[in-house]
This record gives sequence, C-alpha cells and structure tokens, in this order.
Amino acid sequence: PNVVEFRNVSKTYNYGRPDAFTAVKDINFAVPDVPNHGEFISVLGPSGCGKSTILRMIAGLTPQHPPTTGEVLVEGQRVLGPGPDRGMVFQDYTSFDNRTVLDNVAFGMECRGVSREERHEQARSWIGKVGLNVDSDAGKFPHELSGGMRQRVAIARTLILRPRIILMDEPFGALDPHTRMQMQDLLVNLWREVQATVFFVTHSIEESVYLGDRVFILSRSPGTLLHQIEVEPPDR
Ligand code: ADP
Ligand code: ADP
Repeated sequence: PNVVEFRNVSKTYNYGRPDAFTAVKDINFAVPDVPNHGEFISVLGPSGCGKSTILRMIAGLTPQHPPTTGEVLVEGQRVLGPGPDRGMVFQDYTSFDNRTVLDNVAFGMECRGVSREERHEQARSWIGKVGLNVDSDAGKFPHELSGGMRQRVAIARTLILRPRIILMDEPFGALDPHTRMQMQDLLVNLWREVQATVFFVTHSIEESVYLGDRVFILSRSPGTLLHQIEVEPPDR
C-alpha cells in the first residue's frame, strides 16, 4: 500500500451547522512506498488554506474531526487516531518547561516504558545528532535555550521514536534566517538517515523547493490541491 493516501478528502468544520466552514476540499494524492527512501513533501499555501488540517488528519491528532468526506489512509489503513508510526513537530516549542533537555528528548520513550538507562542513552545520542552539546545542554531547561536550540530538541524528541511519517507544521517559521538555514540542512541530513516520509508545512517557497522532493501547492481556502511539483526526479 501507499505510505499515505488521500482519497477525495474534504473537511468541513461544524458540519451541518450555520457556522460550517470547509477547510479543505476534495484532496487526492498518494505517497508510494519506495524501499529505503521516504519522500520529503513540502506543503505550501496561504494562511487558512487547511495545511494544519491536513497534517492533523494524517497524524490522527483530532479523531473527533474525521474527514467529512473521503478517506485518509496510512499504510492502507484508515486513520482512526494517533499511532507510533507518526510523529509531529510544531512551530511553537511544545516541550515541558520543568523538564531538562534530556528528559524532554526521552519523554516519548518514558511513555513507552523504556528503562531509564536505555532512554537516557538514546536521548544523549539524539541530543548529539541534532547538534546540541551533550555535556553542556542535556541538563538545561527549555527557558535557557535559544529558539533554534528548542527546535533541535523538538526534532530530537520526535525522531528518537523512529516514526515512519514525520509531520512538521512550520517548524522553522519563528527562526531568524541564519538559524533557519542551519536547521534546514540539519533536517535534510537527519531525514536521509532515518528514511522517513516527511510532510513539511511552510509559507516559504524557497524553503519548500530547497527541502522537498515534491511540493504540494494549495489554493486559498477552501484548500484544494492545485499543483504537485516534482523537485527531485522520483527515480533517484
Ligand atoms: P465540530 O462541530 O466539533 O467542529 P465536526 O465539524 O468535525 O465537529 O463534525 C460535526 C458533525 O459532523 C458531527 O456531529 C459529526 O458526527 C459529523 N461528521 C463528521 N464527520 C462526518 C462524516 N465523515 N460523515 C458524516 N458526518 C460526519
Ligand atoms: P492553515 O494551517 O493552512 O493555516 P488550518 O488547517 O489551520 O489552515 O485551518 C483552515 C481553516 O479551518 C481556518 O480558517 C481555520 O479557522 C479553520 N479551522 C481550523 N480548525 C478548526 C476547528 N477546530 N473548528 C473550526 N474551524 C477550524
């Protein structure tokens, strides 16, 4: 089956009510399963065109908001809720203020019952992989970190769980241009290593084509998929 597939997906919030609002309309696409190559898909479109709605439907984050029509499939199965095969990274730093970097990165493994020793070892490894300093940063608290460092933590705490699909909602939108470029290169390198499928929402055309194998361009609300542009030859 395809890694992710949308079949005639529309989402109307407040369906059947006077304040009904159609966020996305008749979206169709498929991300084929290519061995040892997760695709990097950039999702581009104006504010309010339904980009977050699309990510949330793939993530299963809001099962109370299923598609109004159509089907969202992950590995051929209808999405009914969140799962360990999908991980999310948001623009706003979403870690716990009262936990150290180490315990933030290890959090998902803690939830999965991984032993303290094992999860701390893994977390240290991921702190290094995202370019933080294991010795000086692991014991810091989020308020002691810059925006770029926080997004490094956010990426580490998601990737440590090895999701097959990574959903990123404008993760670099709040960073200064220089930090943003550093983070783009970090992300590309990590993505090559983990071989996951990435959906990367951005407002930046430049960022979308720099990072993406494929760019989805959505129309103004209600979001429809206007174009899919191949940036990288699909047979690479
Ligand atoms: P909310 O009103 O909280 O924003 P929704 O807009 O997601 O929630 O849903 C409003 C109503 O539409 C709910 O009562 C829900 O049962 C119904 N609904 C949601 N998805 C579907 C669907 N695929 N087919 C038919 N009805 C649906
Ligand atoms: P984008 O990420 O492209 O900015 P969103 O998916 O966040 O777009 O939102 C698309 C539209 O749907 C927006 O106009 C937003 O106000 C509306 N919307 C999003 N979530 C809800 C919700 N839970 N209930 C009602 N409307 C919503």
